[in-house]
Amino acid sequence: MLETTIAGSLPRPAWLAEPEALKGAWKLSGADLEDGKRRAAAEWIKHQEDAGIDILTDGEQFRTHFVHSFLEHIDGIDQNVKTVMGIRDNRYDLEVPTVTGPVSRPKPVHVDEFKYVRGLTNHTLKFTLPGPMTICDTIADAHYGRRADMAMAFAELLNQEARELVAAGADIIQFDEPAFNVFFDDVNEWGIDTLHRASEGLDCTTAVHICYGYGIEENIRWKETLGDEWRQYEKIFPALNASRIDQISLECASSHVPHSVMGILKDKIVMVGAVAVTPDRVETPEEVAATIRSAMEFVDPERILPCTNCGMTPIPYDIALGKLKSLAAGATLVRDSL
Ligand code: ZN
Repeated sequence: MLETTIAGSLPRPAWLAEPEALKGAWKLSGADLEDGKRRAAAEWIKHQEDAGIDILTDGEQFRTHFVHSFLEHIDGIDQNVKTVMGIRDNRYDLEVPTVTGPVSRPKPVHVDEFKYVRGLTNHTLKFTLPGPMTICDTIADAHYGRRADMAMAFAELLNQEARELVAAGADIIQFDEPAFNVFFDDVNEWGIDTLHRASEGLDCTTAVHICYGYGIEENIRWKETLGDEWRQYEKIFPALNASRIDQISLECASSHVPHSVMGILKDKIVMVGAVAVTPDRVETPEEVAATIRSAMEFVDPERILPCTNCGMTPIPYDIALGKLKSLAAGATLVRDSL
């Protein structure tokens, strides 16, 4: 009960990549880089195990960005045709590659690295992939014309990748859909359909991570405009509760999300964000426990997975490590009191 997990990413060590950056460049190259990624992933698997985290990830140590590192391996995208695009409904601008033809996946993207990580641990392992809607909100389109059509095309590629990851031993496939918290009508009209396509036929648990974004300046400023009560999740949770996805995440730590919104997810496992992903401080185990107990007013503990609010890529390594320890210790405090 109250098995702990993380949204997905963890900081890459400073010897491997430029730290505390969203797309920090690699510091190694060639065979050294490949060895370095594996060493960094192995270290985070050990850190997660030592901290007492139950459901592990590779910390996304093999990627520079949660969307682009997948798209770099997809055909039909011209990496040289750059378009400046307002991301997440113009919250910030990013220069992105452009889809110029039908997309296809010439070969597996993450499967070899996953096999390596699978060999490191007997814990439940989750693998994260970008969600179809979020991909479409992170890349320019000069081919499909309709976002829904482009998203469905990417969903098919994600499904191919996910099936191979499951065959290689992934216990949970999670799709990261921060865009779900921005384009509510699209989620209900076609977003969940594309998630269903991406997860079709997977012989594993499925999850979707939805959040208010990394703890970066742009997101922190945006959050300040959202008012005292963040009710965005209310607009999509009814459809998600009716979906075939098993696990749904939400941000609960240091956020203005009313915990009552979890009451909508009656049929789901809920990943309760119990540590924030801002770099300023590490929550105490007692604070984590208080967040979990608050969630328990709306969700039975059997359906709660204490989690991080979002990915921890942009925060300092030691802060992330401290947050892992507090997350596990906070869950233990609650478990021991039940
Ligand atoms: Zn997130």
